[in-house]
Amino acid sequence: MALKIWLNTGLVDEADAKISVFDHGLLYGDGVFEGIRVYNGKVFELEAHIRRLFESARVIRLPIAMPKEELIAAVETTVKANGIEDGYVRLVVTRGIGTLGLNPFVCTDSCLIIIASTIQLYPEELYEKGMRIISATTVRNHPLALPPQVKSLNYLNNILAKIEALDSKAPEAIMYNHEGYVAEATGDNVFLVKNGVVYTPPVEAGSLEGITRAVVIQLARQEGLQIIENNLTRYDLYVCDELFLTGTAAEVIGVVEIDGRIIGEGKPGPITRLLRERFYAYARGKES
Ligand code: PMP
Repeated sequence: MALKIWLNTGLVDEADAKISVFDHGLLYGDGVFEGIRVYNGKVFELEAHIRRLFESARVIRLPIAMPKEELIAAVETTVKANGIEDGYVRLVVTRGIGTLGLNPFVCTDSCLIIIASTIQLYPEELYEKGMRIISATTVRNHPLALPPQVKSLNYLNNILAKIEALDSKAPEAIMYNHEGYVAEATGDNVFLVKNGVVYTPPVEAGSLEGITRAVVIQLARQEGLQIIENNLTRYDLYVCDELFLTGTAAEVIGVVEIDGRIIGEGKPGPITRLLRERFYAYARGKES
């Protein structure tokens, strides 16, 4: 069924949702975006996503032509117009129409796109068995080159690592920063468990400040688990008891093998399963 797409000021038919070939989002990956889940008709953590979008936009000096409250309403309108009960929202702000030069300031009107659709999830079996991943050789962008907190349209760094994963028949890859510390996976944050303590790299190591990451940290604390944000090495991943990834699409997913090393018992461990269950219930509004 054809979707209704929000384009700048209102909804249009999918066939009419077109942007210019001179949009700097296309020419230079100049723009920001968010990926957001809808559970039971409710947009999950919408305010946190809008906050992150505005912060990303502020860093790259991209004006968003709508105040936060209006943007929240526009997302909700788009979700309703498409009858999405459980799905995914892609919110994109591009720099807009400019010339063939780099100068972003000739683009006077940024372009706002909201797509509300269904989502292709990892199969349930992967959650039960856990996934096999690899370490990417592609180094994560240096944080002084592009702050990792900025969720920009420029994903080539992650795509190069994703290609390495797919070449190895793995769905994900761990990216390390210029110092060799774990940054994140190509589209997810990374956690490990060692001796009952949960560890995750600090954002400064080169990861996006994941909304799922923040919720999982909060749920883990509610469970009385100790969470430590610390630089982690490849060695730490090889010798941990449990390893899992978090992200809007994946939620919480266990990793059972990395670079040919089996993690723990070779299946998702008890803390991974607990946090997956707690997140699953929290996101679907089954507990507070
Ligand atoms: N890191 C990267 C590079 C991502 O693109 C994402 C989102 N897919 C994440 C981490 C996870 O962030 P969130 O939980 O906000 O989806």
